Amino acid sequence: EPAHAPALAVHGLRKAFGGLTATDDVSLDLRPGEIHALIGPNGAGKSTLIGQIAGWIAPDAGRVELGGEDVTALDVAARARLGLGRSFQVSSLAAPLSARRNAMIAAQARQGSSFRFLRPVAWDRGLREAADAALARVGLSPRAQVPAAELSHGERRLLEVACALALGPKALLLDEPMAGLGMEGSARLGDLLEALKAEAPILLVEHDMDAVFRLADRISVLVAGRVIASGSVEEIRGDAEVRRAYLGE
Ligand code: ADP
Ligand code: MG
Repeated sequence: EPAHAPALAVHGLRKAFGGLTATDDVSLDLRPGEIHALIGPNGAGKSTLIGQIAGWIAPDAGRVELGGEDVTALDVAARARLGLGRSFQVSSLAAPLSARRNAMIAAQARQGSSFRFLRPVAWDRGLREAADAALARVGLSPRAQVPAAELSHGERRLLEVACALALGPKALLLDEPMAGLGMEGSARLGDLLEALKAEAPILLVEHDMDAVFRLADRISVLVAGRVIASGSVEEIRGDAEVRRAYLGE
């Protein structure tokens, strides 16, 4: 494996829902140390692409590789075990469980149990340590014992990131982690992502263009299921087609 093998690569991913092609021959990669932002209008196929990479949407065609290994045939749990961490556009937290327990369940995914509620996770010290370290990372330690349902919206978004971190990820997929966070919350999460990217590169789907332009090392633009442009912040900001198709100029 070459020294600069991408942490994640997808080749020719396609997914149609009936007559609608949600992702159409999408190829991109995620290199060590980077934040690669994926932007595009509503309905462009961003969440579908994240689902295909994470493994809960089976592609009609194409290939997903993690650290150079073809994982296209593996399910969500197996990809998580290989270090693929993700947060969802729609919350996946267990509402009645504490922040810590949610993070412990996420940490457990690395160990390969798919019967996540059946194991007595409260007794597993390693899981608890991984969970507490992840909560500390996002600033939620004081809220560790609070049920997810009682956290604020912003705290729940941070907990979702903590759950992705608890896995000890080699790559992170974050689908609109800043949605609804407010200025202060997004700035804080942005700082956290900048600190994290050296450990695990991040594929970041985000609508907040200020955040994208500030954080991204690279940007790919998805429109109607196709990558229409990919490049540095400067290249994307200066791309006339992107400005027309997405930035509304
Ligand atoms: P984005 O995240 O960029 O807003 P999505 O990936 O959620 O876009 O959706 C891409 C397109 O696929 C949209 O037209 C959406 O309505 C459609 N779509 C997404 N999921 C499904 C599904 N499970 N069944 C049918 N259509 C879907
Ligand atoms: Mg989406």
